[in-house]
Amino acid sequence: MSQSEKQPAANFLRHIIAEDNKSNKYNNKVATRFPPEPNGYLHIGHAKSICLNFGLALENQGTCNLRFDDTNPEKESIEYMESIERDVKWLGFEWTGLYHASDYFEKLYQCAEQLINKGLAYVDSSTPDEIRECRGTLTEPGKASKDRDRPVEENLDLFRRMRVGEFADGAYVLRAKIDMASPNINMRDPVIYRIRRAHHHRTGDQWCIYPMYDYTHCISDAIENITHSICTLEFEDHRPLYDWVLEQLDWPQPRPHQYEFARLQLEYTVMSKRKLNQLVMEKHVSGWDDPRMPTIAGLRRRGFTPAAIRDFCERIGVTKQNSWIEMSMLEYCIREDLNENSLRVMAVLQPLRVVIDNYPEDKVEQLVINNHPQKPELGKRDVPFTKTLLIEQDDFDENPPPGYKRLILGEEVRLRGAYVIQCNEVVKDSSGQIVELRCTYDPGTLGKNPEGRKVKGVIHWVSETHSLPAEVRMYDRLFTVPNPDSETNFLDVFNHNSLETLSGCRVEASLSNAQDNSRYQFERLGYFCFDVKDSINGKRVFNRAVTLRDTWDNK
Ligand code: ATP
Ligand code: MG
Repeated sequence: MSQSEKQPAANFLRHIIAEDNKSNKYNNKVATRFPPEPNGYLHIGHAKSICLNFGLALENQGTCNLRFDDTNPEKESIEYMESIERDVKWLGFEWTGLYHASDYFEKLYQCAEQLINKGLAYVDSSTPDEIRECRGTLTEPGKASKDRDRPVEENLDLFRRMRVGEFADGAYVLRAKIDMASPNINMRDPVIYRIRRAHHHRTGDQWCIYPMYDYTHCISDAIENITHSICTLEFEDHRPLYDWVLEQLDWPQPRPHQYEFARLQLEYTVMSKRKLNQLVMEKHVSGWDDPRMPTIAGLRRRGFTPAAIRDFCERIGVTKQNSWIEMSMLEYCIREDLNENSLRVMAVLQPLRVVIDNYPEDKVEQLVINNHPQKPELGKRDVPFTKTLLIEQDDFDENPPPGYKRLILGEEVRLRGAYVIQCNEVVKDSSGQIVELRCTYDPGTLGKNPEGRKVKGVIHWVSETHSLPAEVRMYDRLFTVPNPDSETNFLDVFNHNSLETLSGCRVEASLSNAQDNSRYQFERLGYFCFDVKDSINGKRVFNRAVTLRDTWDNK
């Protein structure tokens, strides 16, 4: 666990819970929930809400439910539900109960009859356009529908007939009867039920009326005895409706209370599920788990760890002010984690052949190299050294700029974990392209400095015969501007250079046992993750999670 996970920083929700515990408002219980709509994959913004809800419960020995807010059957699916369960678990959290708003459809229906009986809900035949037109504005009150004063008996009869399917979709809605002149537009007789003949992935065709979000959410929270119902700021104006529904239903005390926090806004990406879905459907990315996506599935494939994501969520904190978080902050968290925990290996992305003329033809030396410079407990590995090696093309320069510390003609460089070599000759093809370097090695320099001279540069290498072919994918930000949402069409600022695929790379032999999500530091190159999904038909694919240092600011 990182420092920030060990010592939670104060925030307004931790403060409120501490106060509630002190006054014994909920008998010292803390019950939260994470309520995703299963209409897409979870993203890093959801991770903030997950860490918050599950985290507050854990800190207080409380409970946290996973509840699917599944009241919009057309957009929802089992695939999304399964991905959400997988991602929450992967992030390291266990829910107390797994529920669905659809578990409560009967109860929600009964509550609606209760409101009708109390004269607090009515069946309205107004069209959606009429309802919108009569809603008024911030400065003008709304106008009552002609159906507002329909008698209770008639409302009850119509609502029951809505349920059994006597009316066409959209013919009627059920509205709460609150106050058409309320300064809060959410309180101007909001619609709480609509007729919609849509097959539901859990309840099938059992229902043709579906409850609306605001009405469903507070009752679901109350049924589950949630104490602190945490949502994002745009629901602040909905809180009076949340409280109104529970009050009119005489829900027993103590009731859940809604609290709002600022959603995560991350630069150079989008988080609306509609837009993420569009990126997937129109194939701008390879799927919800494309390593460039801000989804949990994408970040996982990119090489992010659950600990790094939790660390990020803790570091950004929880406030009531909307603000933008730089992508470099997320990258910082994964870099910290991988620097600490990933194995060091060598890989050459753009190989250039080096022949060691004074090294025996068939000799193979197994050099023993540490897997981590500071962590002996991560062990050592054998790296074969042979006559023909591969180094990075840009680790050699015929016309080096001043201060160049890599290999140049006539000079020495150290091969990481191996010997000092000197370049004696550059071999070119007929087009003038460098194809090979002829070098010699100094046998007395394994693990020691050469006598009487200093060798500054260290470069990485692999054995040509023992290394394995690989494809390496380098990723950049998905969009070219910090806030793609402010564009008329966010696709106009899609970064078409966000994926660079390098084939012909070579990785050291120890990577033959890379597994799903094995993460490495490729020495001097960055942090990389094995992509099990695309490593098929003999292909071996690695995704770059993040560079070694923050290079973005220099661009
Ligand atoms: P969209 O509007 O794109 O569909 P949503 O916010 O409606 O997204 P939900 O599945 O309803 O998505 O969200 C589940 C929970 O995650 C909610 O409590 C919501 O407030 C929270 N959440 C969603 N996006 C963010 C974000 N960017 N930052 C923090 N919390 C978020
Ligand atoms: Mg939603």
